[in-house]
Amino acid sequence: MPLLENYALTHLNTFRIAVKAKLFIEIFSEAELSEIFSNPVVKENKLLILGGGSNMLFTKDYDGLVVKISIKGIGVKKDGNDVLVTAGAGEVWDSLVKYCVANGYAGIENLTLIPGTVGASPIQNIGAYGVEIKDVFESCTAFEMATGQIRTFSKADCEFAYRESVFKGKLKGQYIITSVTYRLSSIAKVQTHYGAINTELERRGITTPSIADVSEVVAAIRVSKLPDPSTIGNAGSFFKNPIVDQSVFDVLLSQFPDMPHYPAPDGRVKLAAGWLIEACTFKGVVEGNTGTWKNQALVLVNHGGATGQEVYRFSEKIINAVQQKFGVILEREVNMF
Ligand code: FAD
Ligand code: NAP
Repeated sequence: MPLLENYALTHLNTFRIAVKAKLFIEIFSEAELSEIFSNPVVKENKLLILGGGSNMLFTKDYDGLVVKISIKGIGVKKDGNDVLVTAGAGEVWDSLVKYCVANGYAGIENLTLIPGTVGASPIQNIGAYGVEIKDVFESCTAFEMATGQIRTFSKADCEFAYRESVFKGKLKGQYIITSVTYRLSSIAKVQTHYGAINTELERRGITTPSIADVSEVVAAIRVSKLPDPSTIGNAGSFFKNPIVDQSVFDVLLSQFPDMPHYPAPDGRVKLAAGWLIEACTFKGVVEGNTGTWKNQALVLVNHGGATGQEVYRFSEKIINAVQQKFGVILEREVNMF
């Protein structure tokens, strides 16, 4: 695990922003993590923990140490009909999904094709097609940077919420997740109510879908809507779906009767950020080297050679337009560095 200087991060962030890290190291085990944290270089530099770089926007070179987590390994333990699957933080999330689907471990098939690593899955409580990681999360182990201790976090400890967790909140920057355990099931209870899953299953003539069917259908829908980061730089949804009070929503709905909306916790209402952006005529817009994706306005893209600053400025423009038209302030989901 050599410590590298002036290291190019272009291939390590899915936005493909061409930036460098002052220092870079890749870590393959908890033991290596302890070792690097006993090196004074860690205390002398600010730190950025990197998984697959699929939820990040670099706005400048990183003037510190980037620690890429590549701790691997998958273990399985049966508990009645439940299956406890533990994976190293550096495992590729979608490879874990494929492994679980192939072995008949149900629970994460709706989260097929989400880029990134296992270690990042609890950070923003990844979610798609009606399933969030909190629904199957059992526990995770994490390295406390200040003390070098390994701590186990239960689901309650993680304080999961919509695209949020304690690791993005009050414990931000304090822990490195080293492994995650998911409680899956050997009995499939497929969830197909969300988005276009049912329609696509019907189109394929599938009436009693298996978890493999759901996984395949989710993959097909995603491929048809989202830009592939290996060809067009992006970090998925750039903004979170805003959640507003019922009274705010009532006023909005009277002005915009077509506005999509979904129930949110505490009697609040979730709006679709993509729809709001599209209504401001931003869908498929190209601005310099950046823009919004032609099939989903919520995804900002790098058409080639975009700088992080350029993407950031464009995202400001979108926030302003949405605020002016709807009075709603979009919050970025992507982590900015
Ligand atoms: P990174 O981008 O490397 O890091 C994200 C944050 O987590 C950073 O703050 C980083 O410091 C921190 N972090 C990473 N690893 C660790 C660790 N081991 N310990 C502590 N902190 C860590 N997200 C969804 O929720 N649902 C989707 O459907 C979805 N679809 C996407 C589609 C596309 C095309 C793309 C490009 C992105 C999508 N995303 C989606 C966003 C992204 O894939 C997820 O947020 C993913 O979990 C990020 O994983 P990562 O390993 O790339 O994290
Ligand atoms: P979509 O189906 O066009 O729906 C638009 C939005 O409406 C979604 O963001 C979704 O919110 C919400 N929605 C749709 N049906 C819903 C329902 N039955 N109940 C509650 N909310 C509903 O969305 P899409 O862009 O194609 O994405 C499909 C799924 O993949 C979504 O879950 C989305 O979050 C996920 N995704 C996430 C990212 C990311 O980077 N975070 C990128 C691509 C796709 P939610 O987002 O809250 O589910």
